Amino acid sequence: PGASRASSDDAAAASDRGHSGSAAVHVRDLHKSYGDLEVLRGIDLDVATGEVVCLIGPSGSGKSTLLRCLNLLESPQSGTISVGGFTVTDPDLDVDAMRRRVGMVFQQFNLFPHLSVLENCTVSQVKVLKRSKEEAKRIALANLERVGLEAKAGQRPTQLSGGQQQRVAIARALSMDPDLMLFDEPTSALDPETVGDVLAIMRQLADDGMTMLVVTHEMSFARDVADRVVFMDGGVVVEQGAAREVIGSPQHERTRTFLSRVL
Ligand code: ADP
Ligand code: MG
Repeated sequence: PGASRASSDDAAAASDRGHSGSAAVHVRDLHKSYGDLEVLRGIDLDVATGEVVCLIGPSGSGKSTLLRCLNLLESPQSGTISVGGFTVTDPDLDVDAMRRRVGMVFQQFNLFPHLSVLENCTVSQVKVLKRSKEEAKRIALANLERVGLEAKAGQRPTQLSGGQQQRVAIARALSMDPDLMLFDEPTSALDPETVGDVLAIMRQLADDGMTMLVVTHEMSFARDVADRVVFMDGGVVVEQGAAREVIGSPQHERTRTFLSRVL
């Protein structure tokens, strides 16, 4: 925790001057309610550029809500968020410009069923980034190759296994050249035999230096790949630190209870 403490102090100092320094994600005192239900109760979270952070915690603890606040799929009541240098909580934010920098992969892959695998990976490049069809195709094929699915480019998503569809979703996100990738339980909806392929792609992405914030129940992935693990419960960060420390010797009873259920 020594190193991460230092980097979050640096990030805090930079944010006082109105930008987030080298922090890819910088969240302070974030509160989010649905009606009377306060789901996020003062979250502080940092992800440094190039860092891989796994967010763990029981169902209902607010992990998805936190991720959704980061790219403004949800609006928080209070607190500050910056992502990739954009102040997400600034009312004048250019939402589209911010979202272009952030790739998101969901539990349900959300591929377009009526488009081919290749078209799924080119459509936003052309529409949002204004790339030519040829360039978009070249970039999409390179990313499909990266996830081992260039041979499936002409097929429809429904012809693929769940794990293959999730790998397409990752290739689609990568085709937008994101600075940061958010993953929300990317393997939770998959058949067990396809989970390993998706985790291997994510591990490769981490090795390539991608900044990643990953909500997952895959503790061996978190232990092996994450630089840092953040444990959330009841809308607060209970504990965080080096992956091996939090998973190997948790300091809080709530963390121990959670880990005893998932390990
Ligand atoms: P997690 O991803 O950790 O399982 P969520 O962020 O999905 O947790 O949900 C946290 C809490 O917020 C849960 O109690 C959930 O029922 C509630 N919640 C999430 N989304 C909504 C919504 N759109 N409206 C009302 N309550 C919601
Ligand atoms: Mg969730």
